[in-house]
Amino acid sequence: MNRIGPILILEGANFSKVPNSRSLYLNCSEKVLIDTGAEEKVLKNVDREHGVQLILNTHYHPDHTLHNHLFKNISKLINPVEYVTSLTIEGVASVNGVFQEWGQEGVEKWKATLPDDWVRNLGEISGAYHYETEYKFGGIKVQFLHTPGHTSGFSCPYFPELGVVYTGDYDMTSFGPWYNGTDGDIEDFIESGKRLLTLDADTYITGHQKGIFSKQEFSKAMDRFLAKIEQRDELVTRYVQQGMNFDELTTVGIFYPKKSLKNTIIKTWERSGVRKHLNRLGYDVIGMDCQLVKLK
Ligand SMILES: [Zn+2]
Repeated sequence: MNRIGPILILEGANFSKVPNSRSLYLNCSEKVLIDTGAEEKVLKNVDREHGVQLILNTHYHPDHTLHNHLFKNISKLINPVEYVTSLTIEGVASVNGVFQEWGQEGVEKWKATLPDDWVRNLGEISGAYHYETEYKFGGIKVQFLHTPGHTSGFSCPYFPELGVVYTGDYDMTSFGPWYNGTDGDIEDFIESGKRLLTLDADTYITGHQKGIFSKQEFSKAMDRFLAKIEQRDELVTRYVQQGMNFDELTTVGIFYPKKSLKNTIIKTWERSGVRKHLNRLGYDVIGMDCQLVKLK
């Protein structure tokens, strides 16, 4: 287990790849867990050894709230933008793009696939913290920066005195930025990414895969990471110029490998992601045959 001063870095299964993620634990007089995507046995060990008194979730995605349900009868707080939405399955279906892409019928089908723990993880969240406010847990100062884009409420816990920031889904993986829910926004994603580089921090901890970056490494990785957005723009433009309509465009695999598009939720995110790029490039999807019309 890695440790930076009083912060323990708890790894998720399978190199913290989605649907797992990395958690932080503040080992001080107040026992605080930030996100719960770490491995169950790791979290149970920490709980046994030190205890957990408070959970703070950066956002509502299931890989970051994965093990909230292991901890009973404690406060679980999320960011203020997502608190109400995350409490209901209807709310989460909407921000995931399920309603946008498939309507109410799709929402009903999707609901039937959700694991009970997943529903409990969100339903048991008890309140919201404030953005940009300095909290002090047993002497550790932390601020939850509002860094929208990945989701509209996404927050990055920043420890100014330690020079550490947990960047969650600014994960610098080769997949590139994820903003595919209806609450994701490409421009915000870019702005928030740039903001992270302005922090007085030497240590950037991502939610998935590699994990710990120096500022210099993170800055270089961010250039590559954000460049994926332009590469997606170029791909979409090329296919549109070949005459593809929206439905055809969402079968080629702009974001996800083509074969994974058989999975309904992956297909949902592919579709809503492609819509965002089309809108950014000035196109709209029109009519039953999903023809593309240039607006700008
Ligand atoms: Zn996420």
